[in-house]
Amino acid sequence: MAKHVYFFGGGKSEGKAAMKGLLGGKGANLAEMSNLGMPVPAGFTISTKACELYYQNKKKLPKGLMEEVRANLKKLESVMKAKFGDPGNTLLVSVRSGSAVSMPGMMDTVLNLGLNEEVVDALIVRTGNERFAWDAYRRFIQMFGDVVMNVPRNDFEHILEEKKRRVKARFDTDLSINDLKDIVKQYNAIYKKRTRENFPSDPWQQLVKSINAVFGSWNNERAITYRKLNDIKGLLGTAVNVQAMVFGNMGEKSGTGVCFSRNPSTGENKFYGEYLMNAQGEDVVAGIRTPLSITTLSRKNKKVYTELVSMKDRLEKHYRDMQDMEFTIQEGRLYMLQTRAGKRTAASALKIAVDMVKEKLISKEEALMRIDPGQLDQLLHPTFDPRAEKGAARIAKGLPASPGAATGKIVFNAHDAEEWADRGEKVILTRIETSPEDISGMNAAAGILTSRGGMTSHAAVVARGMGKCCVAGVGELNIDYKAKKIAVRDVTLKEGDYISINGSTGTVYTGQIKTVEAKLSGDFLTLMKWADEVRRLGVRTNADIPRDAQTALRFGAEGIGLCRTEHMFFEGDRIISVRKMILAEDTKSREAALKELLPLQRKDFEGLFKAMGHRPVTIRLIDPPLHEFVPQDDASQKEMAEVLKVPVEKVKAKVAELHEINPMLGHRGCRLGITYPEIIRMQTQAIIEAAINVKKSRIKVHPEIMIPLVGESGEISFCKEVIEETIQEVFKKKKTKLPYMIGTMIEVPRAAVIADEIAKQAQFFSFGTNDLTQMTCGFSRDDAGRFLKEYVEKGIFEKDPFQVLDQEGVGQLVEMGIKRGRATRKNLKVGICGEHGGEPSSVEFCHRVGMDYVSCSPFRVPIARLAAAQAAIKEKRMKRKGRKK
Ligand code: PEP
Ligand code: MG
Repeated sequence: MAKHVYFFGGGKSEGKAAMKGLLGGKGANLAEMSNLGMPVPAGFTISTKACELYYQNKKKLPKGLMEEVRANLKKLESVMKAKFGDPGNTLLVSVRSGSAVSMPGMMDTVLNLGLNEEVVDALIVRTGNERFAWDAYRRFIQMFGDVVMNVPRNDFEHILEEKKRRVKARFDTDLSINDLKDIVKQYNAIYKKRTRENFPSDPWQQLVKSINAVFGSWNNERAITYRKLNDIKGLLGTAVNVQAMVFGNMGEKSGTGVCFSRNPSTGENKFYGEYLMNAQGEDVVAGIRTPLSITTLSRKNKKVYTELVSMKDRLEKHYRDMQDMEFTIQEGRLYMLQTRAGKRTAASALKIAVDMVKEKLISKEEALMRIDPGQLDQLLHPTFDPRAEKGAARIAKGLPASPGAATGKIVFNAHDAEEWADRGEKVILTRIETSPEDISGMNAAAGILTSRGGMTSHAAVVARGMGKCCVAGVGELNIDYKAKKIAVRDVTLKEGDYISINGSTGTVYTGQIKTVEAKLSGDFLTLMKWADEVRRLGVRTNADIPRDAQTALRFGAEGIGLCRTEHMFFEGDRIISVRKMILAEDTKSREAALKELLPLQRKDFEGLFKAMGHRPVTIRLIDPPLHEFVPQDDASQKEMAEVLKVPVEKVKAKVAELHEINPMLGHRGCRLGITYPEIIRMQTQAIIEAAINVKKSRIKVHPEIMIPLVGESGEISFCKEVIEETIQEVFKKKKTKLPYMIGTMIEVPRAAVIADEIAKQAQFFSFGTNDLTQMTCGFSRDDAGRFLKEYVEKGIFEKDPFQVLDQEGVGQLVEMGIKRGRATRKNLKVGICGEHGGEPSSVEFCHRVGMDYVSCSPFRVPIARLAAAQAAIKEKRMKRKGRKK
């Protein structure tokens, strides 16, 4: 029979860090730590493969698994010198989930397993600590009831809170032994009422049920949502870690905590964390008592603190990454319960990566591979305008749990957050504390605000992972869910009122605050420089106006890959001239209208050329169908008629004439230019004249004129002839020349197929993967959103093909187009300007198929730079691996 259980601790473990896929992160790292000789309570890990079999087997444990568990339990008993279920010398265990990718708080955990009344009595005698024994027992019933048997958590919490209220206890630790005994009695009663059975006293039964529950929790709703949101796919399931218990709730010399080897918010190389004395792990995370900063432990227990510092130093060196660790102190002895690569903000990820290169812990390449390009988004987003923030009405201060700034309307639950956000409202999800059930609401909200919980609370950890602004633990806020109100001293805010939160300082304000763009840190610039050193792909931007071009330049754009000229048609009064052109009945009056547009377009192009300096600028000729420029409703049509001084009937007739059943496949792109060559002429003249004008300021302008929607070589030769003719006329008139290029977009599948023919005419190709996806898949890019979400949910498409390039289908056309194009024209320049140009996996594809550059929106330029660097590193590593074989 296959092996499913792996022992760790008490000498050499059967697992190691590299076995993460099979043992889950927690199990693999527990084995690794114990192999390093660290104080890890012994235990064993049931593999993720067993979880996969459990699901294949209609949620039944694989055959023989429990025999293997029994054998490992025996081994554990012998290492721990205690016996499971033996009241005289009992072994208690924890049962914890842990998959290959960490999913904090999403799956189930049971602590103190093995307790029953008899064992509690014996535990009292053995430890002499009656309070501890009863506290452990009440926690066990609560966790087992909630996690394993689905007894509503509120039932238990109600009993506990009621007791605390009656005996006037502020914290759980204020409860007396008798209070705890009474709570246990009430817990047992509610357990029986809800499950119609007695609380199981047989530890083996407890264990079997708990293992089943942990496997079952792999597919609970919140775990599924978490995996979906974080794009976690392809895992076998969760492992189950059964580990000897150590107790942080044995009195004031015991405690438990969570710590990071560096600051996970800022990346500062400073030991960071929180702990609570006389507590178990869940107390720290749940924020029931406010934890203490780890530095205070150095004063309270120097020996343990020094030992902990040495553990974190060793672990960080060993894993060569920032570690997130859990520890327990049992009567003055330190135990390590977990280590893993710490989740971190983008700013912190950058700082840590750059610092670790400086510390010679990792190479530049490793640093580049450590940053998730998508995470850079976090750094590029707005913060509060400092002046506006200064003048804002500050009402409270909490913990700066996840950086950034957010303004929005107050909502009090996850459901409302989702609903309001769907309506287009920006909301701040305001909770006493969050729990994994709130995950979708947190995702929908602009920011998260809690009144309880520390820097490692659920809200803080999850928000940081999402890159979402969060202020946690604002104790001054009195949140009333029922009345949907927040009271802070004399201020009362209700649902729908505006609130603003600064996740970098922890400050809370009433009202809205103006935001400003992000400023890029030195670490960001350093990492980007390293990315530029290794990437082969060029990175350009899609920009239509100088302001966007300037933003993109700040982010490192090396040129413009797409300027959609028609976007300029809506600016100011120009729409009037555009409409005149559309209404024109003959070429002469159309040319007259275009004459009005010429100086305006020329000026726009001059602005772009000036902004981009010597960098290449690709300008696409008009693309959308003309009906987009005329109004569709009666009132606006009337207004247009008045402005243009024509009868409204004429406007209506034109609108009807332009109407198309399927405009996306209609009279647009080069098809328009072929019908109205005078438009091509005007745009070409504007481009070349603008370039000549800017050249006068010693800027080497290099325009690239791009023809859209070509599917047949006759189309490109027609347009090209008009363009060339116009250019020569301008050169002649201006008595000067400059270099230029004429190329085309490849966005009609036919163009990719006959790319060899098209390349005879085109000096460059730019793949318009928006249209290419639409036409290859047969999905209307305007309407497919309605069903594509479902396609992805149902697994028909792994990703929305308009967001992430469909490499299997559309990708083949791209590859074919490049190959055929270059077969005709060896030095054909190739790029991409569809939305995929800024999406990391698509950028990697563009690198692989040999494109020269990608072009994306300004804010995605840094993402593309990093993704391009990662693609080059991956390729290098693959080659190295290939050579080794
Ligand atoms: C495309 O089709 O990919 C493209 C860039 O052009 P547009 O989105 O303007 O159609
Ligand atoms: Mg297009």
